[in-house]
Amino acid sequence: MGCLFCDICSGRIPSRRVHDDEQCVAFEDIHPQAPTHLLVVPREHLATLNDASEQHEALLGHLVRVAGDLARTRGLADGGYRLVVNCGEGAGQSVFHLHLHLLGGRRLGWPPG
Ligand code: AMP
Ligand code: ZN
Repeated sequence: MGCLFCDICSGRIPSRRVHDDEQCVAFEDIHPQAPTHLLVVPREHLATLNDASEQHEALLGHLVRVAGDLARTRGLADGGYRLVVNCGEGAGQSVFHLHLHLLGGRRLGWPPG
């Protein structure tokens, strides 16, 4: 079974990439829900956050740090932004390769739907 985000990480499927390093890739969401809507995706395939364990601690920290850097460089730090991980179908996960959503650039309601 192919994986969309594995294919995007490897470059087999094109994306609007905004960050790239040895551990992760970040790119524009194809259906943006806010003026800034980026996805930060580990190169390693983990289907959901349920599959992350102690050995992934550094990777998870890296993903959050990269998201924070992207938020800052995009001028979102003062206005506010949100990081979201949808885990499982019941939470709205539709691509089963772990990813962080970075959303910002508009007022974000709480609680989310
Ligand atoms: P989730 O529903 O949390 O699994 O998020 C998956 C996200 O991937 C959604 O926001 C989709 O809009 C986004 N998405 C799906 N296909 C692509 C693609 N080819 N390029 C960029 N983003 C995508
Ligand atoms: Zn994958």
